[in-house]
Amino acid sequence: MASSVKPKLPKNYQLIYDIVQASGVGRHLTPSDIFTKAHKRRPGIGFSTVYRGLERLRELGLVSELYVPGADAATYEPSGPRHAHFRCSACGEIEDVAYAIPPRTLKTLALQHGFKIASERVTFEGRCAACAAS
Ligand SMILES: [Zn+2]
Ligand SMILES: [Zn+2]
Repeated sequence: MASSVKPKLPKNYQLIYDIVQASGVGRHLTPSDIFTKAHKRRPGIGFSTVYRGLERLRELGLVSELYVPGADAATYEPSGPRHAHFRCSACGEIEDVAYAIPPRTLKTLALQHGFKIASERVTFEGRCAACAAS
């Protein structure tokens, strides 16, 4: 569970965390987006540092990693309440969708199949509002 006490992070990791946090809920940054922003503020930072930082922040539960089918790279967003995603197959835009599979459904599925569900990801696909209109 997310705790309000944030461990002290190395400076570079803190910068990466700030960048993801500043992007806000509903924005999904790729590692290269994050690298570009980090590099502007700290030109000495390397791509591998950004990767390692994201890995660490994910372990700490400070950022969420998201693999959307069809997207080229994993994207990162601030940790927050569970939600689903929508990916536009025309422009590639990823949007948050305020939806989570009801816990009851997960429980039922787990019982039916005899497995334990640790996590689930829901991704919708189609055309975003702007693409659908054009
Ligand atoms: Zn679109
Ligand atoms: Zn999201």
